[in-house]
Amino acid sequence: MAEILQIQHLSKTFGTNVVLRDIDFSVKPKDVTSIIGASGSGKSTLLRCINLLEDPTSGKILFHAKDVVDGTVDEAEYRSKVGMVFQSFNLFNNHTVLSNCMLGQMKVLKKKADEAEKAALFYLHKVGMDTFINAKPQQLSGGQKQRVAIARALAMEPEILLFDEPTSALDPEMVGEVLDVMKALAEEGMTMLVVTHEMSFARDISTHVVFMDEGKIAEEGPPEQIFGHPKNPRTKEFLTRFT
Ligand code: ADP
Ligand code: MG
Repeated sequence: MAEILQIQHLSKTFGTNVVLRDIDFSVKPKDVTSIIGASGSGKSTLLRCINLLEDPTSGKILFHAKDVVDGTVDEAEYRSKVGMVFQSFNLFNNHTVLSNCMLGQMKVLKKKADEAEKAALFYLHKVGMDTFINAKPQQLSGGQKQRVAIARALAMEPEILLFDEPTSALDPEMVGEVLDVMKALAEEGMTMLVVTHEMSFARDISTHVVFMDEGKIAEEGPPEQIFGHPKNPRTKEFLTRFT
C-alpha cells in the first residue's frame, strides 16, 4: 500500500542545538507507529514538524508523495487530514464540549452547523463523552478533556492522527480511559503516530516502533524486536529504565 507520509532526511536546528538529525521513516495506511525515547530526544519537535508547527531546517515531508514543507500547502486543510492530539489538550476553554468539536469542521471543512453537530455527536459518543456536550472544559477531568480532544480531532475525519504524549499530563487513574480509546481506534484501523512513555501500551498496539536518541532514529522495527530483542545498546539502556 502506498505511503501516507514519508519523512526524508529531516533535520531541525534551534540556534546551535541540532534537535533532529537526518530522520527517515514512512507511514502506511493502518500503521500504528510508536515513537519512544528519552525526554529531549526530539520526539515533540518531529511531530510538530510533521504538523507544520515547526519549519524543518532541511529535508522533506511528503504527504501522499507531495512535499508539504515548501510553503505551498493550505496548512489548515493539511492539519484536518493530519490531526494532532496534544499532551495539554489545547481545547478552547470558552467553548462547550460540543462547540469544541464543531468549530474546525465549520471553519476548515466548511460544513453547516447541523452536519458538524452530527459528526461531533458521533465521535463524542465514540469516546464516551456524549453526555457532556454542554460542559465547558474546566468542568472536566483531564482524562475527559483528552477524550474530547480526540473526538475533536476525529470529527475532522483525518487520514492520520498524531499523538504527543496524550497521557503524560493525566493523573494515573485517568490514563487507562484515554489509552482504551486509542486502542479501540488502532483496532479499527486508524493510522496513528504516537509519542508515548507507556511502554506496555506501545508494545501492545504498535505495528512499528521508532526509538529516538539525541535527535536520531537509533533503532526501529516491530514491537517484538524493540521490546523483546533490541539490537542497539542505547535502546536496551533506555528500556531498562521502564521495567
Ligand atoms: P522530546 O519531545 O523528545 O522531549 P523536544 O522535541 O521537545 O524533545 O525537544 C528536543 C530539544 O529541542 C530540546 O533540547 C529542546 O530544548 C529543544 N527545543 C524544542 N523546541 C524548541 C524551541 N522552540 N526553541 C529552542 N529549542 C527547542
Ligand atoms: Mg515532548
